[in-house]
Order: sequence, then structure tokens, then C-alpha cells
Amino acid sequence: MADCVFCKIAAGDIPAKVIDRGDGVVAIEDLNPQAPTHLLVMPVEHFATLRDVALGPDGDALVAEMIDVASRLGSDRGGERGFRIVVNTGADGGQTVGHVHLHVLAGRAMSWPPG
Ligand code: AMP
Ligand code: ZN
Repeated sequence: MADCVFCKIAAGDIPAKVIDRGDGVVAIEDLNPQAPTHLLVMPVEHFATLRDVALGPDGDALVAEMIDVASRLGSDRGGERGFRIVVNTGADGGQTVGHVHLHVLAGRAMSWPPG
């Protein structure tokens, strides 16, 4: 999608620190990390929300792949101490980039409830 920063990153048109790739999925480092590990896992194809991914072609497989990559990276980085996966959705959810992405946070204790 034109003017989508994550479409451009996924296509390699904007530089980013790519950590991993899955089947139709890319993982990058967040530009403004909120924890010692802060990665973003996103589909290469543009979808606004996780629900849009699920309803799209091969939605079940793509959702599963995103969760697989995110949970593997979280497990690798967080180890026995654990990690957090977050999906901000829409204005109330705090989503600022309209291309769905899973935040993977690890390396410090997280508080609850989130702000
Ligand atoms: P959200 O607010 O949930 O939509 O998350 C968007 C995330 O994308 C934020 O954590 C930003 O720091 C991050 N971000 C925005 N632009 C870039 C970029 N060019 N490269 C890496 N991360 C980015
Ligand atoms: Zn996009």
C-alpha cells in the first residue's frame, strides 16, 4: 500500500534492522525500543489489523505464522524470565502505524495493567 511505512520496510525500500523472516512475515527491531528487546513482527502484505489478516486469504496460516515467529523470538530473547506480545489496534488500542504488527518485548519486568 502506498504511503505505508511498514509496506516499504517489508519490501526493502526503507532501511530497517531485519531480525528474522518467516513465510510471508518479517521481524524488525523497533526504532524506539520500550524494552531491551523490542521487535515488531508483521506480514509482508498490507493488512490494517489482526482481524483483517484472519479474514484474508490464508488468514489462519498467516496469523499462525506471525504468532509462531513472535513467540519464538520472545522465547529466544526472554528465556526463562518470559516476554510479552502486544497488538495495539485502532485509536483506543494505541495503534500508530496502520499495518498490523506484533510487538515482542523482553528483557525487563512488565507492569500490568498497561497504560
Ligand atoms: P503501534 O503504536 O502499536 O502502531 O506501534 C508502532 C511502532 O512502530 C512504534 O513502536 C514505533 O516505534 C515503531 N516504528 C515506527 N516507524 C518505524 C520504523 N521506520 N522502523 C522501526 N520501527 C518503527
Ligand atoms: Zn502496509
